[in-house]
Amino acid sequence: MNNDAYDVIIIGQGLAGSLLAWKLIQKNKKILIIDANPSSSASKIAAGIINPVTGPRVVKQENAEQLIKQSDLFYLEIEKQLDTRFYSSIDFRRIFQTDEEMSYWQTRCNDPDYNSLLQKTKNLENNAEDNNFFVDPIGSGLQANVKHVDCAKLLHLMLDYFKSNNLYICENIDYGDIQLLEKGIRVGHLESKKLIFCEGFRASLNPWFSWLPFVTAKGDILTMETDIKLSRQINSFGRWFLPISSNQFKLGSNYDWNTHDELPSRSAKKQLYQIFSQSLLSNYRRQFPFQIINHQSGIRPCSKDRSVFIGHHPEHPQLSIFNGFGSKGLMLIPYYCKVFYSYLYDNRALDKRDNVSRYWQDK
Ligand SMILES: Cc1cc2nc3c(=O)[nH]c(=O)nc-3n(C[C@H](O)[C@H](O)[C@H](O)COP(=O)(O)OP(=O)(O)OC[C@H]3O[C@@H](n4cnc5c(N)ncnc54)[C@H](O)[C@@H]3O)c2cc1C
Repeated sequence: MNNDAYDVIIIGQGLAGSLLAWKLIQKNKKILIIDANPSSSASKIAAGIINPVTGPRVVKQENAEQLIKQSDLFYLEIEKQLDTRFYSSIDFRRIFQTDEEMSYWQTRCNDPDYNSLLQKTKNLENNAEDNNFFVDPIGSGLQANVKHVDCAKLLHLMLDYFKSNNLYICENIDYGDIQLLEKGIRVGHLESKKLIFCEGFRASLNPWFSWLPFVTAKGDILTMETDIKLSRQINSFGRWFLPISSNQFKLGSNYDWNTHDELPSRSAKKQLYQIFSQSLLSNYRRQFPFQIINHQSGIRPCSKDRSVFIGHHPEHPQLSIFNGFGSKGLMLIPYYCKVFYSYLYDNRALDKRDNVSRYWQDK
């Protein structure tokens, strides 16, 4: 291995690759990040919501406190070092869709474990706050500790940072260009001690990790504009309504488990639009003051067992993967950057549930 060799080459500048690269740079590792820079990716279009309590059963994410703590530390540190803002708290109103959901909510409200996360039940039409254009026949609850990351801004900041420090190459890596050395790898003429794949859903094409049971979930997001003055509050009604300025908001998202292209889907757009219109109070439905200004889609890299895919290749430890963050990348990746760093450099074992080796015997 020559003296100019990198400590780590990362393939993929999505959220996983960017945040892991940042972590390694903070620890003085010599890194290079290579990305094809497609026009769309999960990270480029993600809504950026960090919400520890999700789903119709109102379930708290396992290890939520640690995940939130690491997100706070990670994103605030980047903001500080780059002298910028992309991370903030945001109000979150859950509009119950069924009596069952309401009943789960009430049960959780009496559970001390949920104390800091759920506030009170309220009826939308009886209060005077903004964004009150949704029907609310069963009631709503306010969730606390919800954060928002402006993902597009974060990715741009990271890209500028990598470029200005000569740590970035824009290229689509052909697996045939990767050569395994005894104690490292070569990509074209570049040598590195480790290669970490952060390829999002495209990892299912990676010949070294093709034995991992990736599941993909395409999602579409509409950006819309209105004359109504919006407050900074997410409304969730099976889909979510996320204000991004005083007169623009994002609307999303669906889960399409069968489509593998990233092209915006006309049927998903129609469905989102319909659900949104049907969720509006009747006077807003009659005089529809909302128009679509953008439509994007991306593919979430999910796993069959809903755990992440991280770890070394069992036979080629110079190759590793950092992936499988599904629909919760913003909340999971900061925590897993810390875990993965300790695994790479402090000999700390990974949890069996997270380590890709759990699937190796099934290959
Ligand atoms: C509609 C939608 C909404 C979402 N909303 C949220 C949300 O609100 N909150 C949340 O936490 N998560 C959300 N997510 C999930 C989140 O986007 C993902 O968890 C996260 O972005 C995954 O990041 P990644 O870096 O693993 O993958 P990606 O974003 O897919 O990045 C992979 C990168 O690898 C590059 N790459 C792959 N192969 C190669 C190669 N051979 N050569 C060079 N480059 C390569 C690609 O170009 C790409 O840039 C959402 C996802 C979608 C689709």
